[in-house]
Order: sequence, then C-alpha cells, then structure tokens
Amino acid sequence: MRKLAPGEKAPQFVIFSFDGAGSHEKWQEFMAAAEPTDSRFVGFLTGIYLLASANKEKYQGPGHSAGKASIGFGGEKDEIITEINDLNQAYAAGHEIGTHYNGHFCSDNPPSGATWSAADWESELGQFMSFLTDYKKLNGWGDEVPDLKVTPAAIKGGRTPCLEGALDAMAPAWKKFDLTYDSSLSTKSGISWPVKMQGIWEFEMPYIYSPGFEKMILAMDYNFMCEVAACDQTQDVAAATRPKVRATYDFMYEQAYNGSRAPVLIANHFNKWNGDAYNKPALEFMQDTCGKKDTYCATYQDVIAWMELQDPAVLAKLQGLPAVAAAAG
Ligand SMILES: [Zn+2]
Repeated sequence: MRKLAPGEKAPQFVIFSFDGAGSHEKWQEFMAAAEPTDSRFVGFLTGIYLLASANKEKYQGPGHSAGKASIGFGGEKDEIITEINDLNQAYAAGHEIGTHYNGHFCSDNPPSGATWSAADWESELGQFMSFLTDYKKLNGWGDEVPDLKVTPAAIKGGRTPCLEGALDAMAPAWKKFDLTYDSSLSTKSGISWPVKMQGIWEFEMPYIYSPGFEKMILAMDYNFMCEVAACDQTQDVAAATRPKVRATYDFMYEQAYNGSRAPVLIANHFNKWNGDAYNKPALEFMQDTCGKKDTYCATYQDVIAWMELQDPAVLAKLQGLPAVAAAAG
C-alpha cells in the first residue's frame, strides 16, 4: 500500500460484504473463492447467532421483550461451535468481521432501527459486543467450546438491518464503541468515493443503474429479490435472475474502473433466496474480477487505511469526482 504519485490513477477496490455471516456453507464457499487471488472480504455478523436458541432471553432488543427477534437465534451448541470456527478461520485469513447488529428489527416489526434513539443503538451495539466476549457465560458453557478470536476491538463498522437508522442517532453509538465506518446509508445515485459523515467513514450502498434490471436499483440481494419476486424468497427464479445480477456487478465495476475508481460494493446476505439467485453471481464475479489489473478485493478497513495514507488533497479530488453508474453507460 502506498501513496499515489501525482496524476496516477487510484487502484480499483471491490469490497464484498455479507450480512448475517451465519452460514457454514457460504463461509467456506467464499473463503475458497477468495483464496487464489489473495482477496479479502467482510462478514457482518448477526450477534444473536452466538446465543443458543434455548438462551434467547439473554438478548433484549430496544423496545422489544427479552428473547424476541425478527430472525432466528444461534440454534444448538454444535451449530454455534461451527460458527465460531468459521469466524476464527476467516479472521485468521485476513477477512474482516463487522456487525449486522442483533435482532434484525425492521419496519415490519416495530420499533425498528428507523426510530431507535442513540441510547437504543448503544444498547443494541453493546449487546453485540457482549455476545463476542461473553457467549460462553451467557450460554452456560465451559472450555469445551472454542475461544472466539474476534474481539470487540476488531469490530470497526457494520451494516444495519434493512439499512434502517438515523445518522444522528447512530453516530454517537458508533463512536462510543470506536467504530470508524458504516455501510448502510444511501443518500445519492451512483458510486462515489466515501466521505466522512459525523466523523465516521460512510461507504454508501450503491443505488445505481442496472443494465440487467434496466432501471435504477439499490444493488443488494434483498432489493433484487423485491424486484423479481415481490420480496418472496421462496420463489425459484434463479435462472432468470442470476444473469441480471451479474450484469449489474459487471456494469458497476466497468463504470468505476473506467471512471473515478470509486470502491465498488458487492453486498449480500449469506442466503439462498430465490434458488440461490444472488450469491452465485457474487461468487463468480469474485472469481472473475478480483486480481484483474489494478483491481483489489479488499475489506473496509483496508480501503480506509489506503484513503488515510493519501495526500489529503489527492483524496479530496477523488471524492469530488462525479458519481459513476448513475445512468445507462
Ligand atoms: Zn439483514
């Protein structure tokens, strides 16, 4: 990693991130896909995946009763041991772990992140950190369960469930837990270089033109699902959908590479929605794109380190370049 020389083009960063990060199969698939090109990616962990379903009362989401969540808890002890081993393996290989918070409370199960206060976010994030450090105690387990090597100090950012949350409420909580970035907001069209908002690096979710879907769309698995299957994950529409998703990624990459070189975000959950319509094209895009000329598949913390290494005037110039992929190419 080095400073750009005057007039030199920035490297093209691609940041893959996966919300939830609770699938053994997906962890192993993506780690295997990243390995040949020494690529790194990001798992945004759902904290309650470290809490056994039998111990769900140990979590209380803001405004909700203890033991309630919009998604499942961690299941049985053996499943959580598998998750800990995956997290440790990924972390040791240079992949980054961040937070997808805990209860996944969205507008369909209020109160959700959209209306949470700073104190609510602090509670949610504090509980996430406590699951990392106290999962043995909370579950009543001993040293037959492996130690999790991912500590709160490793957690530097995350993505909120359903991308909900008010910046004014979230930023104080982020700072309290020493987070340096977020990747939840979407305030403008196209792909631009990140800027700091309230002292936090904001990697905006890409709201871009997609030649696959032939429209402006938020490039995330959930939003693709709502586009092709009215948000119903059970419909198998993979054959028709995968090429559209791939065309979206290719367009984002080409427009950025040939334009501002703003980091491209590929954002999914670890899931098999709609017949595994979304992670398959993401995996193939990783295999085909990472390691191309001047292209680095890296983590948020890698890209922040690169940006902070640059001459501030050089970075400001990049941040001032027009957004790419905001319209048909
Ligand atoms: Zn989510």
